[in-house]
Amino acid sequence: MEKIYDVIITGAGPAGMTAAIYAKRAELETLLIEKNFMGGGQVLNTYEVDNYPGLPGINGFDLGEKFSEHVDKMGVERISEEVVSMELTGDVKKVVTDQGEYLSKTVILATGNSPRKLGVKGEEEFAGMGVSYCATCDGAFFKGKITAVSGGGDVAVEDAIFLARGCEKVYLIHRRNELRAAKSLQTALFNTPNIECVWDSVVTEIKGDGNVTGITVKNVKTGEEKEIPLSGMFVAVGNEPNSSYISDIKCDEKGYILAGEDCKTNVPGVFVAGDLRSKRLRQITTAVSDGANVITSVQDYLI
Ligand code: NAP
Repeated sequence: MEKIYDVIITGAGPAGMTAAIYAKRAELETLLIEKNFMGGGQVLNTYEVDNYPGLPGINGFDLGEKFSEHVDKMGVERISEEVVSMELTGDVKKVVTDQGEYLSKTVILATGNSPRKLGVKGEEEFAGMGVSYCATCDGAFFKGKITAVSGGGDVAVEDAIFLARGCEKVYLIHRRNELRAAKSLQTALFNTPNIECVWDSVVTEIKGDGNVTGITVKNVKTGEEKEIPLSGMFVAVGNEPNSSYISDIKCDEKGYILAGEDCKTNVPGVFVAGDLRSKRLRQITTAVSDGANVITSVQDYLI
């Protein structure tokens, strides 16, 4: 007979891994599925995490590894496979991956989100040739060069500060004249001499000749366009939910799954935790919080 798990968790970011730890502590038959070789999710691409209690200034990669080690220490069964579809409406849920099928009484959706694209000419063509969505992964290739970051949130500002450590100059291009990033990050940004903010502006084209050589930037208030010669264009304009494999679940207008703090979706036995849940604040701490709360809801459902 095919094994039926108590809970299958899709996604091994902070929410999925916390849920796995709590599930094991609750002695639930648990399977954690993550498409990437390493667990950790977006944390792995963060240079420095300064708001996770008890670990000030920890490198994101190290924090992701610590979560992973904890999951392994608890003896959680985990596999590296990509979930392609699911059948969620019956009492026994079926999770289909690129390598097999798994059955479970409950499912926790914890696949988070991915970087949003700018959607401008040249972005796709020069992806990996100067266009990047991860400064901590690719920043080292641009030592001594000129780069730009598009965006005005925590990630864009963190990326600009990180890049400024090695680059000759960094432009921060933001569509408004006010950043939404945390005030402490803004202070650090404004105190970094080799960062220039380009306000009220958007990137309209990324140009190159094999590799990126420059961008066109348009001032959204005046309509004026200018060319900026550079080697690296970092895109940090927010995220989109990783939910393409999910159907039959109610989402908000941005595609994030609707659920309250109890993490219950509209389908019985199906739960959502972490950045994939429709919520106000997406942080490692709030993802971890969901990971804990969701197991209480799973236990209630199983009882
Ligand atoms: P975000 O907070 O959603 O910011 C996205 C930024 O990109 C905004 O400034 C937005 O402009 C801009 N933007 C969106 N679409 C755009 C477009 N098409 N063209 C140009 N600009 C565009 O996203 P994020 O910075 O990736 O952060 C994601 C989440 O992770 C946030 O909740 C953040 O707080 C969290 N985070 C936290 C930490 C930390 O606490 N240490 C670190 C990293 C990330 P507007 O401002 O005009 O909307």
